[in-house]
Amino acid sequence: MNVFSRLTPEAQGLGMTSQRARDRLIARLREEGIADRRVLDVLTRLPRHLFVEPALESRAYEDTALPIGHAQTISQPWVVARMTEALIQTRVPDKVLEIGTGSGYQAAVLAALCANVYTVERIEGLLRDARRRFRKLGIANIRSKNDDGRVGWAEFAPYDAIILTAAGEEIDPALFAQLAPDGVMVAPVGPSGAQRLLRYRREGEEWKAEMLGHVSFVPLLGGVS
Ligand code: SAH
Repeated sequence: MNVFSRLTPEAQGLGMTSQRARDRLIARLREEGIADRRVLDVLTRLPRHLFVEPALESRAYEDTALPIGHAQTISQPWVVARMTEALIQTRVPDKVLEIGTGSGYQAAVLAALCANVYTVERIEGLLRDARRRFRKLGIANIRSKNDDGRVGWAEFAPYDAIILTAAGEEIDPALFAQLAPDGVMVAPVGPSGAQRLLRYRREGEEWKAEMLGHVSFVPLLGGVS
C-alpha cells in the first residue's frame, strides 16, 4: 500500500523541502531509538511540511513540535514515531481511534498502516485544515468529527487501538469501554510539566499501564469550538 505515491513530486515536496531533509530526520529518529521499519518507512514518505503553516515549511523536518494555530502544535516526529511504534508493536490494529486530530499528521501516519482510522478534534478550524490535507494526499480511510473526544466515539466502537495526542489528568472510563478486549491504548497522562506516556493493555480483568517515557503535550480540554 502506498497512499502517497500518486502525488506529483512538487506536492510531495521533493523540491524545496527535499528528500534529503527527510532522510536526515529518519537517521536521527533511528539514533534516538526508533527501530520499527514500518514506522520509519511511513515517516520517510509522508510529507510533514504539508501539515504545517507555509511559513514553517522549511522547519518541517526538524525533530520538533511546531505551532499549527489555535494555540496547538503538531507533535514532534520522535513522539509520533514512538507512539505509533508502541501502538502497532504486538499487532497492527485494523481500527484505530485518535483523540486530537490537530494537523492530521498522526492520523495520516496511522492511515498508512491501519485499515480504518477515526479521529476526533474539538477545534473546527483545525479539523477543516486536516481534512483538506487528507484529500490532497488521497487518504480515504480516515473518518473524522468535530467533537469533545474525551469520551471517545462510541458509534464505531470497539477499536483495536486508541491513541490520545493531548494530555488529560486521567482517562475517561468511556475510552476503555470502547477498546476491544485485546486492544491497546497509548496516551500522555498527567498535569503539564509532569506527563507520562502510558500504554494500557489488558491483563486478566484489568487494564495495566506501562510507562513509556516522559512527554510534553497540549492539554486535553473540554467542549467544542
Ligand atoms: N495529533 C496531532 C497533535 C495535535 S495537538 C497532530 O498530529 O498534529 C492535540 C490536539 O488535541 C489539538 O488540536 C487539540 O485541539 C486537541 N484536543 C484537545 N482536547 C481535545 C478533546 N477533548 N477532544 C478532541 N480534541 C482535543
